[in-house]
Amino acid sequence: MGRVKLTETAFRDAHQSLLATRMRTRDMLPIAEKMDQVGFFSIEMWGGATFDTCIRYLNEDPWERLRALKKAMPNTPMQMLLRGQNLVGYRHYADDLVDKFVERSAKNGVDIFRIFDAVNDIRNMERSIKAAKLAGAHVQGGISYTISPVHTIEQFADFAVRLAELGCDSICIKDMAGLITPQNAYDLIRAIKKDVSLPINLHTHCTSGMAQMSYFYACQAGVDILDTAISPLSGGTSQPSTESAVAALVGTPFATGLDLELLTEIKRYFEKLVEVYAPVFNPISARVDTNVLAYQVPGGMLSNLVSQLIEQKALDRYEEVLAEIPKVREDLGYPPLVTPTSQIVGTQAVLNVMTGDRYKMVPKEVKDYVKGLYGKSPAMIDPKVRLKVLCDEEPITVRPADLLPPEYEAARKAVDALCLAKKEEDYLTYALYPQVALKFLQGEAVEEPLVKKQPASAGATAEQIKGGQPMAFDVEVDGEAYLVKVAPAGMTIQESQPKAPTDGVTVPMQGVIIRYTVKKGDKVAKGNAVAVLEAMKMENNVLANKEGTIKEIYVKEGTTVTPGDVLMSID
Ligand code: MN
Repeated sequence: MGRVKLTETAFRDAHQSLLATRMRTRDMLPIAEKMDQVGFFSIEMWGGATFDTCIRYLNEDPWERLRALKKAMPNTPMQMLLRGQNLVGYRHYADDLVDKFVERSAKNGVDIFRIFDAVNDIRNMERSIKAAKLAGAHVQGGISYTISPVHTIEQFADFAVRLAELGCDSICIKDMAGLITPQNAYDLIRAIKKDVSLPINLHTHCTSGMAQMSYFYACQAGVDILDTAISPLSGGTSQPSTESAVAALVGTPFATGLDLELLTEIKRYFEKLVEVYAPVFNPISARVDTNVLAYQVPGGMLSNLVSQLIEQKALDRYEEVLAEIPKVREDLGYPPLVTPTSQIVGTQAVLNVMTGDRYKMVPKEVKDYVKGLYGKSPAMIDPKVRLKVLCDEEPITVRPADLLPPEYEAARKAVDALCLAKKEEDYLTYALYPQVALKFLQGEAVEEPLVKKQPASAGATAEQIKGGQPMAFDVEVDGEAYLVKVAPAGMTIQESQPKAPTDGVTVPMQGVIIRYTVKKGDKVAKGNAVAVLEAMKMENNVLANKEGTIKEIYVKEGTTVTPGDVLMSID
């Protein structure tokens, strides 16, 4: 066994970063046996976004994936990424759910739990660390690495000490955005090594182009484990290549001792596989992007941002949004940008740019964050922003999960009432993702085909192609935009909406009107919430543009709206 060990990320972070987390279990299994022979420290293959993607897009049971891969790779520790109290979801879950989820994950095959919290609030990690220890697993305590005026090497090292005190078996410096410079990697590892005797793992991404250099400096500082991805799934927003790391360290005191010939056989398999997944591969994510050094946008967030802007037909505002992100991050007390804070900061930045009025529109998740429901922010939240977001509500100071009543039993009853559970884990799937899981457990989920998403900038884009529904095209003629509706022969185009006034309440972005909070005849004040718009997977209030009485509502609940669409008029 070599001096430096490697964690292979092909089955989790690498395809999450480059292929929108779409790799299927059936494409992992044929190469699993070979990968099991390499002698990796671990193979990261579960958690992060894989759970959600399995049930939402792939019609796959994530628990079956875990069992199948564990069985196919009995000699290598199976590793998952767990977001502390958020588990594999986007909100905080109650302690009973955390206990149960961790216990079942270990039972089904997870050997190593890498546990982190987006804002490094250790209170959000304690419960899952305890549960994983109880299950007999190896616990890797994660430090969400970031750069800001309030984050220092000493602080991170102190955090590592606290993780060690909680019983963690190793420490991971989780640099989810590829921000760490060689010198910072060196200094941080040395600082942690001084106080903590546990193995140290460095996790980073190639986004900014510094990862390989940082890895070599990390080796010199005494790093024990590095995260790499087999070459066809490496680079860009993913990890440095496994084969390159192995080759680069040959002849040094850090040599991994891994077999390059075997790795080359594995690489050949993935080379072919990557071609199959070409439709979901976004070339932007393969580039070296030094923007990340200025904006600190992690790989996954970058591709998410691009698809949000494409959805909003506003890809031309990409640079503006990138510039807004560090401002929002400063307002919110410099959270590291990792799920879910990356979505929180990213979506707020998009909203600030799209509405042209900062914090005019604030999703529920941002409100919750400001309220302290995701934990304590690294620095104080700007009081002016806090006031704008919370009005007179007070933020909480306790551990967020202290406010959550147990939730497992309720989930169990809900699933049993529909006779949907085939195994205990189905209750957990439901508890984590009620809507998506219901569809999945009922057998109504369909595997998404591997096809390219419609480009947004095409001259004429099909807006809606549903059975028998008219199709709508955005057509540009001499720089003027027209909406043209086309109906199949023999069909009529739907009755158009009543003509809405130009001074009505409009939506600033594309989304679905999920409900109205007022009805015709209601009196409202300027700035009151009148409707809830779901945009970019978050709920946003639409506000009254003036004081008065609701005269008319023009758009039905459930309708997809685009920027400028008039929802209602106020008299
Ligand atoms: Mn990562």
